[in-house]
Amino acid sequence: MPFASLGLSPALVHAAHQLGFSVPTPIQAAAIPAVLQGSDVLGAAQTGSGKTAAFALPLLQQLQLSATGGPRRVRALVLVPTRELAAQVGEVLRSLAQHLQQPLKVAIVFGGVSINPQMIGLRGGADIVVATPGRLLDLVEHNALRLSAVAHLVLDEADRLLDLGFADELQRVLALLPAQRQNLFFSATFPDAVQALADGLLKSPVRVEVPHTPGSEPAIEQRAIAVDASRRTQLLRHLVKQHEWSRVLVFVATQYAAEHVAEKLYKAGIYASPFHGGLSQGARNQVLQEFKDERWQVVVTTDLAARGIDIAQLPAVVNYDLPRSAVDYVHRIGRTGRAGESGVAVSFVTADAEAHFRLIEKRQHLSLPREHIAGFEPSEAAQGPVPDVQSPAGTGGIKGKRPSKKDKLRAAAAASTGSPGAGPDTGKA
Ligand code: AMP
Repeated sequence: MPFASLGLSPALVHAAHQLGFSVPTPIQAAAIPAVLQGSDVLGAAQTGSGKTAAFALPLLQQLQLSATGGPRRVRALVLVPTRELAAQVGEVLRSLAQHLQQPLKVAIVFGGVSINPQMIGLRGGADIVVATPGRLLDLVEHNALRLSAVAHLVLDEADRLLDLGFADELQRVLALLPAQRQNLFFSATFPDAVQALADGLLKSPVRVEVPHTPGSEPAIEQRAIAVDASRRTQLLRHLVKQHEWSRVLVFVATQYAAEHVAEKLYKAGIYASPFHGGLSQGARNQVLQEFKDERWQVVVTTDLAARGIDIAQLPAVVNYDLPRSAVDYVHRIGRTGRAGESGVAVSFVTADAEAHFRLIEKRQHLSLPREHIAGFEPSEAAQGPVPDVQSPAGTGGIKGKRPSKKDKLRAAAAASTGSPGAGPDTGKA
């Protein structure tokens, strides 16, 4: 089915083609007509499903049609959890919007950088604002923008917005919006809090769900390698060289580990850089850009890079430390195998982390053989079930799907003492 048959204008069909999108993905085919009709939409989709264009294309079309020619007022607001996702979604909107006859202005705002350039950027108004909630509220308080004309609200990665503790800010933003508006709600997962938010926000939504069927999902080969905790860096070096991966994203549990592992690889002659929330926004942008440009072969990161970030042709993801939950596992491995490309996701399973990985496998309905790599056979035997509160080597902490209250308190305490690497690295804007 071509894009044209979904009700999009020729200009937007052309814009999609210019981005290399010739055929809509399933979520685009389902969501675009519903959004064009003005319905609220509840989208449940896997990472890499093409959901950005699923809301961006019909949103731009509606804004074109409702343009009045008067002063620019913010008519569409896209709320996202992280700076990186704000930049990425904003760029997709801008790339598509540049093909329209009447230009639409897209402002991208997020915290962690100076507010002044963003205030200047908002002078003369904007048609669409892509924002993280905290900075958006700051800008409203500075009278840099008003939200009273918002007719379309998009919540992107709603589960992550709540995970990162944006619930209060979200409610404050919602209170500033007109009651009459279209709501588009996207989330990869639907725990109770996310479902409650959706229920409160959406009016008779069209549900857009991309079924988890084999074939529709990207081709990600999942592997689990049993290895001693102390030999993981050497094994990583071995795999990078053996497979000649052009780019690898390596996940670790803490900012400290990101620095440490990257340094060890670098000293061993592999171009590796750390990426985490302790770096300045400028440094983070630079690392990402250089990774995309293939100037870094390996980026060692915390879960900060697990969501949203889109790097085309990323052949491999390595869980050096296991993720805390099955949901995080899905997000991490979803960085590879994007847009139908194939990729490999390797998890290092230390003896201490074996029970934790079994839990992840259970939740994912997976059962991966534990591989032994010649020269790196584990000397430690796997233990029985691992208790629920410690953080044994090789895991980012053993937890259920969401951080417990205790986790949050620990993270807050770590944040207030400024201790790097303690607690989850949210990089919250
Ligand atoms: P998203 O889920 O929006 O982050 O998109 C995931 C990836 O799919 C991005 O690299 C997009 O550029 C790509 N993509 C989105 N829609 C299409 C399409 N219709 N055809 C091919 N690639 C697409």
